[in-house]
Amino acid sequence: MKIAVAKGDGIGPEIMDAVLNIFKANNTPLEYEFVDMGKWVFDKGFNNGMTPEAKQSIETLGLLFKGPMETPKGKGVKSINVTARKTWNTYANKRAFQSLHGVDTVFSKAGIPIDITVVRENIEDTYGGIEHMLTHDVALSRRFITRPGSMQVIRYAFEMARQKNARRISCGHKANIMKITDGLFLECFYEVAKEYPEIKADDIIVDDLCMKLVTRPDLFDVVVLTNLQGDIVSDLCAGLVGGLGFAPSANIGDHISIFEAVHGTAPDIAGRNIANPTALLLSGIAMLQHVGLTENAAVIENALLYTLESGVHTGDFGDKSIPAVNTTEFANAIIANF
Ligand code: NAD
Repeated sequence: MKIAVAKGDGIGPEIMDAVLNIFKANNTPLEYEFVDMGKWVFDKGFNNGMTPEAKQSIETLGLLFKGPMETPKGKGVKSINVTARKTWNTYANKRAFQSLHGVDTVFSKAGIPIDITVVRENIEDTYGGIEHMLTHDVALSRRFITRPGSMQVIRYAFEMARQKNARRISCGHKANIMKITDGLFLECFYEVAKEYPEIKADDIIVDDLCMKLVTRPDLFDVVVLTNLQGDIVSDLCAGLVGGLGFAPSANIGDHISIFEAVHGTAPDIAGRNIANPTALLLSGIAMLQHVGLTENAAVIENALLYTLESGVHTGDFGDKSIPAVNTTEFANAIIANF
């Protein structure tokens, strides 16, 4: 099967090459169509950050594996990442956070395992960027929450919870204050929950959720939230399992899905072959599972887990008494562990 690949900006090409080399060594049956997206495409004058050919290829192939991308600042152009999610109606953002052996955190040291999947609504809420100054001293932002938009992401979260054999699904919200917008999201949550009686469904106010995630992350399984709250809570969860280097992301739509790491282009370390490719690799593994290549996904995931457990690490994490390896060496260590 053929998928679209955009290597991205900054560390994007380095980590994408590392991941594709791992796929190649595993004989993963994927073909790639490399598409033009990112800052260098903005710089060429395409003001949505992609060429018409790239857009066409992604729409034909239905799957985009992408590296992080930079949007030029201060030129009045919209974020390439937000544009991609909106253009292709990838309404659910799924981020799976798991404790990984070899990645030390306060929870791993305390023997508390973490396995939390955050599903964030990906299109609505305040992300339409509809905001303006009412007067010199008053700024106004509009927030859209719709019933169809809420139903589709919540239904996706319950379906995913069922596949994952999740015991619990929680809706994070602020319906005590935003009674109409978050109230609608919460109403949709309990409406969909009726169709999944085998999964315990409950709700929790988002500030309480943040406190409980930090003190008892093992109590949570699947959490579904609106866009802005989900954005914040998912970065909190990345911190629980070791940081952005271990945070994969899938933007799921009915026709097109986009798999990418949560982190950005890391301009401070770009071009030095020292970036950690784990988050993009975890996103790639999720993509293989999504397209049914479950055996390839399992072999690569086991090799990654074994590599991390054996102490091999890039400079951003791991046991400082063991010298760090570079991006290429990290990928080769995974390949050696197939
Ligand atoms: P960032 O995630 O790029 O970097 C934050 C810090 O984490 C930096 O110190 C960086 O070196 C480190 N880091 C990130 N990924 C790493 C990795 N794989 N290995 C080792 N260290 C890593 O965040 P930022 O600096 O705020 O953003 C830089 C650019 O990326 C901005 O232009 C931003 O808009 C863009 N961005 C893109 C995406 C995306 O394409 N999905 C997401 C977030 C940010």
